Amino acid sequence: MLHDNHGRRIDYLRLSVTDRCDMRCAYCMPEGFKGYEEPSLWLSFDEIERVVAAFAHLGVQRLRLTGGEPLLRLGLAGLARRLSALPGISDLSLSTNATQLARQAEGLREAGIKRLNVSLDSLDRERFAAITRRDALPAVLNGLAAAKAAGFSPIKINMVVMAGVNDQEIDAMADYCFEQRFILRLIETMPVGSTGRSTGFMTIGPIQERLRARLGLIDGLIPGGGPARYLVSPDGRFSVGFITPLSQHFCDSCNRVRLGVDGMLYPCLGDNGRLDLRSLLRYGCSDPELESALIEGVRRKPLRHEFTEEPGKIVRFMSSTGG
Ligand code: SAM
Ligand code: SF4
Repeated sequence: MLHDNHGRRIDYLRLSVTDRCDMRCAYCMPEGFKGYEEPSLWLSFDEIERVVAAFAHLGVQRLRLTGGEPLLRLGLAGLARRLSALPGISDLSLSTNATQLARQAEGLREAGIKRLNVSLDSLDRERFAAITRRDALPAVLNGLAAAKAAGFSPIKINMVVMAGVNDQEIDAMADYCFEQRFILRLIETMPVGSTGRSTGFMTIGPIQERLRARLGLIDGLIPGGGPARYLVSPDGRFSVGFITPLSQHFCDSCNRVRLGVDGMLYPCLGDNGRLDLRSLLRYGCSDPELESALIEGVRRKPLRHEFTEEPGKIVRFMSSTGG
């Protein structure tokens, strides 16, 4: 079992399989971003499998593939198949922007990915293009239709709420998710990178109360182990989650660490601490040495982020850590 120095059990790994992306969401990546990692520094599929197997041996059961845009990593379904077959891994999920999902949904579902989170900040084509700097809403909606047909369940829609940008669309997004049977999650912008700091932050507590009243929602719980607080309709057909890292942080119950495509282990999204697993792997470490490094890396997890006290602390972009 992995525990940090603050008594939290860590059983969830978010694995970035690429730092590349075909979008440039305003809160995530700068428009002219050119700082991608060299492919020779990406963990290979063999290296990824070895690290995930070591995590699983130490009690990590849940794994999410993310990025960057994970569907841009060639052979992703093959990797997913290998990871979902590892002893101990009981839950394999994926975060994607869905631009490439129409072609890949079936293969990814067959490879053992069951749950899907899709970024979708607007249903208005022009606003979507302004936020993501890509005119890709039709491709994303096709991707979502393919994901439904392939049998992913649940499908969660992640909407980063930005004051004056898309906050007027929350009701429309809730209606769309209700119709489609998707779970909606509203997310506060985190000050990760200059992009995360420059995008109309707003606290989503008041939205929670407004939606509760408008839709007659009640407090609920959705399995998944994440930080969202949920409201559900009394018949259970609609759920909306609220992810409030700033207005109501949830660090006490944090159960996860992140692994970058370059093999850096990040114990906390809101901290600059990291541990270089790639060097260890490429120097030929033994399995016990690798596991000792994971135990040490997890121990270093800080008690909480300091997004409010030190908003300028994290200079790396969300796409490079694996959001
Ligand atoms: N490209 C995939 C996607 O967009 O779902 C996976 C990676 S993306 C970094 C994962 C999640 O991080 C997305 O839901 C995105 O909205 C969220 N995200 C990125 N930057 C953020 C920020 N500054 N604050 C809050 N959420 C952010
Ligand atoms: Fe790409 Fe996802 Fe970041 Fe948007 S949020 S730029 S889709 S990695």
